[in-house]
Amino acid sequence: MQDGKINLRSLLPEELAAVLKDMGQPAFRAKQLFSWLSRGAAGFEEMTNLPKALREALAENYCLGAPKVLRKQVSAEDGTVKYLWGLRDGNAVETVVMRYHYGNSVCISTQVGCRQGCAFCASTIGGLVRCLDAGEMLEEVMFSEKESGLKIGHIVLMGIGEPLDNFENVVKFLRLVNHPEGMNIGMRHISLSTCGLTERFSELAGLNLQLTLSVSLHAPDDETRTRIMPANRGRGVAKLMDECEAYFKKTGRRISFEYAMIDGVNDSPEQAALLAKHAARVGAHVNLIPLNHVDESPLRPTPPERIAAFRKALEREGVNVTVRRRLGGDIDASCGQLRKKTADAMRRERS
Ligand code: SAH
Repeated sequence: MQDGKINLRSLLPEELAAVLKDMGQPAFRAKQLFSWLSRGAAGFEEMTNLPKALREALAENYCLGAPKVLRKQVSAEDGTVKYLWGLRDGNAVETVVMRYHYGNSVCISTQVGCRQGCAFCASTIGGLVRCLDAGEMLEEVMFSEKESGLKIGHIVLMGIGEPLDNFENVVKFLRLVNHPEGMNIGMRHISLSTCGLTERFSELAGLNLQLTLSVSLHAPDDETRTRIMPANRGRGVAKLMDECEAYFKKTGRRISFEYAMIDGVNDSPEQAALLAKHAARVGAHVNLIPLNHVDESPLRPTPPERIAAFRKALEREGVNVTVRRRLGGDIDASCGQLRKKTADAMRRERS
């Protein structure tokens, strides 16, 4: 919701139908309107087959998000495309389109900024500005597809923000993007990544969405994890593992652990052994990612040979491990970096 108006793209087709019915409109108008919304119409004036009076009446209570490209970067290395989108209220978020052998995947932001405070992450430096509404998340996918010309088949909620800190809007977005009359992207092609807000896990499991839950673990022990991820405080690794196990049992969906390798912080043999224990208990797949360096942070990535040794130690314990390929390294594709750099540059220009 912005300036008291609801983003029409946050409404499911059946909700749109109810709105139009209340306005005394015939049923076919809802289909016409939904078709405009799905095609990425930027304003009501484009909807030429709707009567002018209806368009004006809609504009009184509703708005459309139509993000503008503030910056676009294309990686020369691997074709990754990164957008900085300008939103209706002047805020900006990042979306990244990645090209894989199985198709194109989009990484979307769920909030403007973030309040989780992870020590290695650029998105959290300025704190949380606001949550995105469901339509704005949908527009990230829709407008990235439209602007890049790349058909999107997969989505990861791994951009700026903490999805479980914007629970209702995120769930609504998932229903919208999955809707057969909409973009129709399968839940099994969607991953939701969280820093571990355990109080939301059972609610999420209860919705029985078939998506993949990714847990940003980054450390297997409380001392280290609380140091680099303040969200661990008051929750703890033991509670997180209990909730992961319960989620897996309830949904039958395998969880993955994200683990950014940080030199001298979370890459010891003891930490590998403890991580292996957690992963085995909850049946998790482990993704090792070399830390992306963020200018404001003293943390450095673990060197490749020690990442390889860490991986071997996990595999010896029977854990499934992938070392993530870094995409878009030449375009600051790691979350939060582009928004932050652009804001810093604008501040410098003004002063
Ligand atoms: N808030 C959610 C989703 C956004 S972050 C979460 O915490 O999962 C997406 C992923 O990028 C997370 O796994 C996060 O820990 C990771 N990440 C953030 N900064 C990073 C960096 N500098 N290098 C590597 N991974 C990073």
